[in-house]
Amino acid sequence: MNRIELPKEVGLLAVSKYQPDEKVLLAYDQGQRLFGESHVQDMVRRYETMPKDIEWHFIGHLQTNKVRQIVPFVSLIHSMDSPHLLFEIEKHASHIQRVVPCLLQLHVAQEETKFGFFPDEAISFLQEGEWRKCSYARLAGVMCMASNTDNEEQIAAEFDTAYRFFLQAREEFFPQDSLFTIRSWGMSGDYQIAIRHGSNMVRIGTLLFKDS
Ligand SMILES: *Cc1c(COP(=O)(O)O)cnc(C)c1O
Repeated sequence: MNRIELPKEVGLLAVSKYQPDEKVLLAYDQGQRLFGESHVQDMVRRYETMPKDIEWHFIGHLQTNKVRQIVPFVSLIHSMDSPHLLFEIEKHASHIQRVVPCLLQLHVAQEETKFGFFPDEAISFLQEGEWRKCSYARLAGVMCMASNTDNEEQIAAEFDTAYRFFLQAREEFFPQDSLFTIRSWGMSGDYQIAIRHGSNMVRIGTLLFKDS
């Protein structure tokens, strides 16, 4: 695992998708404990075969019919991208009485293909209030992905949109002492911009695992 300098208040999620098991275990031996996967089957297999003190974060688009497989062990679902998904997570989490923190995935990129709530949809969803009935699927912050572009100003503006949304949502919908604290943005290509624009958790794969 390559060294990446981060401010101490920024968490590092090592995105292990598509990496061979050996590399993941080497990172574990170097002290890394937070790993991110984007496919349910891979994450379940790794959870079952790898050390139990790893915290597995799910970062891919999550189909509702696969929620049940990860709810027993997942530490954080970054990609809560629809009300229906949140209620499905609540259903399975309440069955086993396990709290599952989730991030509201915000769509801030120019690209059509990205999942997530548009900021106005996210505000409506929070205002509407059904989410307050969820006592096991807990909203813990915001996740986003910026556009895949070299235009740093555009990337910064997209992260700013997410940060403003986070601040507004925290003030209006979450009490001071709540768990709503996580700002998950920044990947290999844009994590430095992300940190300057409000991120406190970066999700890095390529840069961390590439042979240097
Ligand atoms: C793959 C992935 C990452 C990591 O991307 P890198 O460019 O390899 O650092 C981060 N977030 C999500 C949602 C991903 O799917």
